[in-house]
Amino acid sequence: MEFDRAGADALMDIVARPEVVFVRGEGSWLEDHAGKRYLDFIQGWAVNSLGHCPPQLRRALETQAGTLINPSPAFYNQPAIELAKRITGASCFDRVFFANSGAEANEGAIKLARKWGQLNRNGAYKIITLDHSFHGRTLATMSASGKAGWDTLFAPQVPGFPKATLNDLDSVRALIDADTVAIMLEPVQGEGGVIPATTEFMQGLRALADEHNLLLIVDEVQTGFGRTGTLFAYQHSGVEPDIMTLGKGIGGGVPLAALCAREAVSCFAHGDQGGTYNGNPLMTAVGVAVFDTLMADGFLQGVQERAKQLSEGLLALCEKWGFKGERGAGLLRALVLDRDDGPAIVKAALESSPEGLLLNAPRPNLLRFMPALNVTQDEVALMLTRLDEVIARVRS
Ligand SMILES: *Cc1c(COP(=O)(O)O)cnc(C)c1O
Repeated sequence: MEFDRAGADALMDIVARPEVVFVRGEGSWLEDHAGKRYLDFIQGWAVNSLGHCPPQLRRALETQAGTLINPSPAFYNQPAIELAKRITGASCFDRVFFANSGAEANEGAIKLARKWGQLNRNGAYKIITLDHSFHGRTLATMSASGKAGWDTLFAPQVPGFPKATLNDLDSVRALIDADTVAIMLEPVQGEGGVIPATTEFMQGLRALADEHNLLLIVDEVQTGFGRTGTLFAYQHSGVEPDIMTLGKGIGGGVPLAALCAREAVSCFAHGDQGGTYNGNPLMTAVGVAVFDTLMADGFLQGVQERAKQLSEGLLALCEKWGFKGERGAGLLRALVLDRDDGPAIVKAALESSPEGLLLNAPRPNLLRFMPALNVTQDEVALMLTRLDEVIARVRS
């Protein structure tokens, strides 16, 4: 198949895309219009938790598509009930609202916190968020995000999101005033460069929230659903948040997200929150299939083993090439380069032949790895070998 330039130009030009059209995928592999194969360590930005087109997902979609697609969010449906039951049974949360994207789930978390503030805290509405955080691309979630330049892009912002510094408890404490209702963070900053919040920081935030009667909100859109080796990343620190959002991996590639809250915080009145597609059985049936796969015996253990293999392999590359180190949690990892040639490495990896390798550089000196959670030992080993070859080519 030829690349259709004119056709591609009918799409709004929102990002610099390579001249490649992906036509099919299976597991950790993608194939483009010319038949070239790519080992995929992006997986739709940590979205395809079980790889491309996994049989569990296809089965769930096929069965559900022939049963019931969308009766309306104003009626109960069985897959939504099943998935909510599974999530509340495996977490500290009691109620779930399903959404279609991470940004929409976070938007819901912001609304829920503000509503709770109206009911319980005299109208307190400010939510302390962190520099370099990423919470989505709606106006409110862009305002909540600490991405450089986003304070003026599409100005004016939605007010009420003062920014503190990750892993600096004093910077959070200094921002608390009578109008503060919540603290919101990613347990591992993903887009910000794969920087984990320390256990100390998470525990400190919980204590601070308790002391000042604030809600603790974790954005687990990227870290949730097994990505860090536990079902949810907050479980590493032993703290129990009041609100959690999920996205990306929960749908294994289809649009599904969730807003989870403890009973005492689930204060939406009828009509406060909703959405045409929210909790539709076609997507929630997929969520059930993903959840059951993750919770099967040995699956999360496998994630931890592959994470260890990936981490050790990246450290060996650091040793060999003089890189600055690697970091992350589970299968959300980053390699810290010694110079700003991350984008050049990403480009060379994509263009490698006969097979390409898909990587991401969230910052110029950083490579990020987000393979399928069921990536095999051989695929991790192959990625490390290919990456080493690409680095040798770029740096020769
Ligand atoms: C991707 C991401 C979002 C936004 O999710 P969308 O589905 O793209 O709206 C929000 N928060 C975090 C931490 C993310 O990684």
